[in-house]
Amino acid sequence: MADQYKGYRGPARDVLKNFQAIVWSDVQITTLKGEFTGIILPRSETADDLHIVLKLRSGYNVGIAANSVTAVEITGHKEANYKIPEKEFPYDPKKPNVKLLGTGGTIASRLDYRTGAVIPAFTPGELYGSVPELADICNLDTEKLYGVFSENMGPEQWVGTAEAIGREIENGVQGIVIGHGTDTMHHTAACLSFMVQNSPVPIVMVGSQRSSDRPSSDAALNLIHSVKTAAESDIAEVLVCMFGPTSDEYGLLHRGTRVRKMHSSYRSTFRTIGDIPVAKVDRNAITPLRDDYNRRRKDKSVTINTAFEEKVSIVYYYPNMRPDIIDSLVDNNYRGIVIAGTGLGHVNKPLYPSLKRAHEKGVAVFMTVQTLWGYVQMYVYDTGRDIMELGVIPSANMLPEVAYVKLGWALGQTGDLEKVKDIMLNPVADEITEREPSNGYLIFQGGLDDVEEFISRIRK
Ligand code: ASP
Repeated sequence: MADQYKGYRGPARDVLKNFQAIVWSDVQITTLKGEFTGIILPRSETADDLHIVLKLRSGYNVGIAANSVTAVEITGHKEANYKIPEKEFPYDPKKPNVKLLGTGGTIASRLDYRTGAVIPAFTPGELYGSVPELADICNLDTEKLYGVFSENMGPEQWVGTAEAIGREIENGVQGIVIGHGTDTMHHTAACLSFMVQNSPVPIVMVGSQRSSDRPSSDAALNLIHSVKTAAESDIAEVLVCMFGPTSDEYGLLHRGTRVRKMHSSYRSTFRTIGDIPVAKVDRNAITPLRDDYNRRRKDKSVTINTAFEEKVSIVYYYPNMRPDIIDSLVDNNYRGIVIAGTGLGHVNKPLYPSLKRAHEKGVAVFMTVQTLWGYVQMYVYDTGRDIMELGVIPSANMLPEVAYVKLGWALGQTGDLEKVKDIMLNPVADEITEREPSNGYLIFQGGLDDVEEFISRIRK
């Protein structure tokens, strides 16, 4: 049967045939480079004919060069069913109405068995089919705004998402969930915090680090936590809801302007920086960790302000940076630059003339710190004072990515640089705080318990 070798041609197919293996065989493959154990995945018709693709036990896919295979031991056959059964989401008039707006990312993905790739796809029926608990919480309606991985989110999608949120609030939903890729979720969270102000309902961003075909996926739990927050919580802010500790004990709700992805692969990747998270959430309860949040209201009023200037850049300073980096932005008509400087907010001397030129040409230049925790303090060293003299404005403890997004938003409001400075330095959504709690650096950043457990394992 042709399907037994789905997508395999040439040398890769010959190897499978020689060892009597087929697609979905559970195998141990010996190669010149070592042994691999997993399931042979089907391949796309357009894929090369030199590799066998194996889904390893870890959940990762690996391509094995056909000409390196010396033996294949077949231990079983496990045909995966990646098609999510669709079930109609039940409606209960007593439950709150929540809208899930999808933008893409792993959370909205399932494995495409043809290609072995993760592709975005979701409907309320698919979600209910895979996470039936959602129906215990609310009536869920979904809308796919975009289907992109989050590196492809940008001003156009930020504006579209903010407008969609405005429409849903107008329609009277009790909460909004936004499915999003995790990589740039903090940029979008910051942007929505500026574009959507004074919301009467929670706006909860959610993603997953591992796709739902993997046993260790965080997709279902993050979804349950975020939908619960949107439906029931009193916190009417733009929040990011993701795994708290590395275990699946609870999720954390992070403020949209103080959150950052901090690990490329851990499920507990999001951290509140320079503060503590707003709340913990598990299947049973939402437990606020602070009380200075915007409360839920019954009205439908909200301020949506999506003006955005795209000619803004962020420059991550590195030793030996040359002035042409700044010059090229000025020469290409950039209107705003955020620098992520070293220490308290520094760059090297060779950049000074270019920074002065940028200022003279009317480019708004703001300083943030690479350390992420702590404030820009440009009065401490001569370097800082000199840089301020050139027209560079310190932006307190605003995170670099947040300052970048806010500068685009501020320049969208006005071309008057004094007003831009005013907007930048006056917090709209806690992007600048008066102080950073000394305990925030460790506590509730995934759980002190985790730290204890880690230390006790080392002590043994
Ligand atoms: N690359 C993906 C994205 O950000 C990863 C994820 O969804 O977690 O869209």
